[in-house]
Parts: sequence; C-alpha cells; structure tokens
Amino acid sequence: MSIEGYVKDISIAEVADPKTAAERLVDKVKLSPSALTENFLLLNTRSRDASMFFINSVDEMIEAENVAMQLGLGFKSRPSFIPDPKGGYYIFMKCFTFTNEEKSKEIDRLNPKTPPNSEVEANYRFNPMVHERIGYILDYPFCCIKAYAEDTALIIDPDERLTMQVADYKRKNKAINSDAFYLEEFLPCRPSCENASAKGRAYENDLRKANDTVANLYNQLKQEHLRNVESEKFLRQKESGKRKYFVSTL
Ligand SMILES: [Zn+2]
Repeated sequence: MSIEGYVKDISIAEVADPKTAAERLVDKVKLSPSALTENFLLLNTRSRDASMFFINSVDEMIEAENVAMQLGLGFKSRPSFIPDPKGGYYIFMKCFTFTNEEKSKEIDRLNPKTPPNSEVEANYRFNPMVHERIGYILDYPFCCIKAYAEDTALIIDPDERLTMQVADYKRKNKAINSDAFYLEEFLPCRPSCENASAKGRAYENDLRKANDTVANLYNQLKQEHLRNVESEKFLRQKESGKRKYFVSTL
C-alpha cells in the first residue's frame, strides 16, 4: 500500500464514558499499556486534549484507529519524513489523537499529508521552532519545551542529555520524581521538574476518578519510563540502528 493509504482523518464523535471505556479496553487491546493509557484513556478523561505517537505496524495502526473511534476521539495519521544523511528520507507513521477541532487544525498546519517538496520545506519541518509549536499542541510544560528546543538547536541529543542528568542526580543523591516522566518518551527538562511532575500527578488523579486499575497501571508506567532513561534504552536502540529518528518526542 502506498503511503497515502495510511493517511487517515477520523473526526471527533460522541465522548465515551471514561469508566466504561477503560473497563472495556484494558487487557483487551494489543496496543501497549502505555500507548493505550497515555494516548487514548488520558484523552478520554479529558486530562489531555492532544497526543502524538509513532506506529510500528499495520496491525497497530488499525487497532489505534479502532480504539480512537470507540472512544469518540479524533484521529489522524501522517507520514513523518526524516532526512537520511545518504539522501532521501526515512518514513515513519506519526499518529495523533485529539479532543477538539482547534487541535485538529493545528495538527494539519504542522503535519502536512505529503512529503516535503523542497529542501526549504524539509528544513522547515525540522526547525527547532516547529518542535516548540508541536510541544504547545501537546501541552508540554514550557520549561521542558524550551530545554528540548535548545538541545535540538545545539544538535545535542535530548535523550542523551536526560540520561546524563538522571545519572548525575543519582550520583549526588538528588531527588528524582517519577511523576515528571509522565508520558512514554516525554523528556522533562530535568529529573525533578515540578511542572512535569504536577501533570503526572493530575493525570493519575483524573484516571483514578474513572478507574482504579488504570490509575495504578499509569503509576507503574511513569516509573517504567524513568527506568527506561536510567537503563539507556533509547540510546542503545539508536546505537543499534533500531531507532532512526533523532528526535524522539516531537
Ligand atoms: Zn520542565
């Protein structure tokens, strides 16, 4: 199938009741617990109003579309074209879920359906300012967006920066807050960022109102995200070529 076949726009429908939706979906879908909780259930509770994630297989894509429809969430899939230093592009499928039309329009403005048709457009898509705007769409804390944009402007790998910060905090016995690692692959500006931690706590509370099991699961996921940074999971994936995109979050 050509890339056009994967480009989808599903509009927002009636909101599903968060409690019933969580009960119906947890343990029954093949999406990872993190993908389901953070990109779908947290939108269903209206904790988040937009989410972005990468899709690795056709099965995952079909499931993601289905879950979005069941929850009444808007859904878009867009190809992401990462320039290959040897020429051409790596192509990844990026998906978005969202709860309002304003976010839908912003996603379209920043994520066209077609490959860049000039070098200027390709460079525009990877401009740190565009990363910043995507950070705003996803409602990331300003301090964390700023840290990420600075990394990319200086050609520092943000995954590496955060790994070093975590190692440094541990060496100095400084408190690390797992609530700050509130989304898979989200990179807080520092391991104790209070703005990111506040979001992690608020999201867990919102989920708790809907379903205890999912709230407990989300708590475990935040700790797992921190462990992934500690164990340098993403850095190892990049080294082995399994992870080609330099920018992991945006
Ligand atoms: Zn921050």
